[in-house]
Amino acid sequence: MRIGFGYDLHLLKEGEELILGGVKIDYPLGLIGHSDGDGLTHSIIDSLFGAFGLPDIGNHFPDSDPKYGGISSLALLEETMRIIPGSVINIDTTIIAEEPKMSPYIDEMRRNISGIIGIDESLISIKATTNEGVGPIGEKKAIACYSVCLCDKVVRL
Ligand code: ZN
Repeated sequence: MRIGFGYDLHLLKEGEELILGGVKIDYPLGLIGHSDGDGLTHSIIDSLFGAFGLPDIGNHFPDSDPKYGGISSLALLEETMRIIPGSVINIDTTIIAEEPKMSPYIDEMRRNISGIIGIDESLISIKATTNEGVGPIGEKKAIACYSVCLCDKVVRL
């Protein structure tokens, strides 16, 4: 068994799209990023690479490479699943965002992630909390995401 941990933070800006877990969220601010800025999916990807001791997301998908410009992070997650030498048992995540309410979007995020990872939605946990108004996240300047995963080093056929 392998455990992996991932963290990501993106700055919020007016006029950007807010996409988390591959779901477009209705909100006037969005996340700045070379890809679609999907910090939840990025944190999951980093947890998966971490579980197998592989280099991080920035090494695999460098933001200096134009082919990743504006790319859906779900496509990066698909590529990650081809790279990691094993399978995923479960994933647990937390989104830290002062706004908006994430609850209407969580089920669709779990469907998106479970569809790509290839495990049941019940094995993908996505939680959301605020930062109680404190710090840059509390001031709505950024959204952060944490993920942990449990993996099996047995290579899938
Ligand atoms: Zn990111």
